[in-house]
Amino acid sequence: MKDSLVKALAFFLSVMLVLALLPSAFAAFAEQPGDYTGGSIDPATGEPIDPQPHTHTGGTATCHTKAVCEVCGEDYGDYDSANHDGIEQAWSSDKDGHWHLCTGCQLKVGEQAHTLGWCIKTPATEDTDGLKAEYCTVCGYETGKTEVIPATGPVTIGDVNGDKLINNQDLTMLFQSVSGMNVTANEKASDVNGDKTVNNQDIARLFRYLTGWVNSLN
Ligand SMILES: [Zn+2]
Ligand SMILES: [Zn+2]
Ligand SMILES: [Zn+2]
Repeated sequence: MKDSLVKALAFFLSVMLVLALLPSAFAAFAEQPGDYTGGSIDPATGEPIDPQPHTHTGGTATCHTKAVCEVCGEDYGDYDSANHDGIEQAWSSDKDGHWHLCTGCQLKVGEQAHTLGWCIKTPATEDTDGLKAEYCTVCGYETGKTEVIPATGPVTIGDVNGDKLINNQDLTMLFQSVSGMNVTANEKASDVNGDKTVNNQDIARLFRYLTGWVNSLN
């Protein structure tokens, strides 16, 4: 009789113990990532640095770093794949397109197809052919495709575009050429006033000739 009373009491106590532990077991189970309940431990002292329970807050996540909590200094949450940190200024490219590499996450940012145009490798002269190469006007990638620019033949001063006429189209191309645009202006024909340089004075001279202010180009 006394023996069974002890057994009943032991059973009762173990049930009570399980019931007492259950809430904390559930709390641990229900804890969400980012919920901060204990404070971080100072490795030097073993003491909690911030014993106040709180939910992590503030900070900014990037593509390769998590947000840092403004309360406790721990990082939390997910990376932000849209907030790239480490985008290279220079273009990267292959035969299909160009992009800026993010060194933070190694993703291609702003990937686009090439915008193809031609650049002059060697300008044509009166008696030698020139060469132009196909390239991307955005990133500078060269496709490897080239074309010969035929020798101009005898050059007429003022005939900047080499169409054997001297008109407003030459003035336009000369203006574009002096402005640094990538046009196929003939160097010799562009030196309208014959001073060995191509500049605004040549534009002015050609303009005056075309509008009839002066009768000769130089
Ligand atoms: Zn925190
Ligand atoms: Zn990134
Ligand atoms: Zn490109």
